[in-house]
Amino acid sequence: MMESLVNDPVVRRLRALQEQWWFNPRYLSDPGSASDQLDIDQAAARLQRFAPYIAAEFPATAADGGLIESPLREIPAAQAALQRLAGLALPGRLLLKCDHALAVSGSVKARGGIHEVLKVAEQVATNAGLLTPDSDYRTLASPAARTLFARHSLVVGSTGNLGLSIGIMGAALGFRVVVHMSSDAREWKKSRLRALGVTVVEHPGDYSAAVAEGRAEALATARCHFVDDENSRDLFLGYAVAAQRLRPQLAAQGIEVSAERPLLVYLPCGVGGAPGGIAFGLKQQFGPHVHCFFAEPTQSPCMLLGMHTGLFQQIAVQDIGLDNRTCADGLACGRSSSFVGKLMQPLLSGIYTLSDDSLYRLLALLRDSEGVAMEPSAVAGLAGPLGLLAQGQRYLEDNGLVPYLANAAHLVWTTGGSMVPADELESYYQPGPHPPPGA
Ligand SMILES: *Cc1c(COP(=O)(O)O)cnc(C)c1O
Repeated sequence: MMESLVNDPVVRRLRALQEQWWFNPRYLSDPGSASDQLDIDQAAARLQRFAPYIAAEFPATAADGGLIESPLREIPAAQAALQRLAGLALPGRLLLKCDHALAVSGSVKARGGIHEVLKVAEQVATNAGLLTPDSDYRTLASPAARTLFARHSLVVGSTGNLGLSIGIMGAALGFRVVVHMSSDAREWKKSRLRALGVTVVEHPGDYSAAVAEGRAEALATARCHFVDDENSRDLFLGYAVAAQRLRPQLAAQGIEVSAERPLLVYLPCGVGGAPGGIAFGLKQQFGPHVHCFFAEPTQSPCMLLGMHTGLFQQIAVQDIGLDNRTCADGLACGRSSSFVGKLMQPLLSGIYTLSDDSLYRLLALLRDSEGVAMEPSAVAGLAGPLGLLAQGQRYLEDNGLVPYLANAAHLVWTTGGSMVPADELESYYQPGPHPPPGA
């Protein structure tokens, strides 16, 4: 390890597996206009074009007109429970953005993963003369389209949820799908995919190894698209669309975001695509009035390590002696995305880490107070609001937020769990008295 890192206090705490808050010194409240390489409107329009097809294939989305979207709900009982446990007041409103319950694949990956599969399908069908922008996209369920897609394959490397979303959507369209899974992927995800006719290849290594295998296979195969979780703009843009759809949801709850009514958002982070895409979209929507924080497991703080050191994807948590093993399998990434960290440099307010114990505690708190169950990765955002108040005085002052905390909306983005089998959900739930989060 580099000398400068050994003595760095942030890296020291990471190595000691201490929970910590890191505030981004390069955060800019007004960073100027974003890269026009990343056009969120195009992704949103694509999802709209596919909506009739999705509504027909996945009836759970029919009520939303074939858009895969999750509810936003206030969680006052969880807010009360958090305050009681921490012995700290949490002024403002606490809301849950329920991506743990997204239709089709039950996690935030239903945004990015499905967008990328649809983009491939659109290109393949258009090139074959089966589709124009004015077509009724339900034609993609026709035998001719399915025969076409069966000659193409999709390959992905995943800890689980991305594989599920690519597998479910890819199989529905008729693609051949191969999912390379890491050793920490859950058994039920593998069997569920196999039941859909997806080929699941298991690897003894971690997530990065599974991705590398997938990439190599895809390069050697004709008519094959590799969904590259560490590099994909199309995944990123699918996530980013969430932000446009959030504005009317907030308005329906009487929340208009402004300088006097700030929005604080807490996002679980793995390789960074999902939280990065969502944060990127939120900054376009709400500018300096939204403040985005990522949450990472103490064993897998790849984004914190990359952004703090300025080494981004060039450094992995294993390089500082961490083992990347956590109950939060959706966040078990040792190395961050090749472009998200740099893109986030002026946009992200900060990152905090939390232990597996804290995740289990928050998971139980949410279930006891609100009756919602999810997977451990998904609750990482719940430590954010009180942690920020306890650790972020300086940030709140520097950004002029202190006078407006009573008007703030804290939005905890939950990211996965509604497809987890009941017995497995039960095993995550550890009831009993729980010490304060972040204590
Ligand atoms: C994938 C995932 C995330 C994080 O997404 P990244 O793009 O890897 O950062 C968070 N929560 C769950 C449940 C996930 O599956």
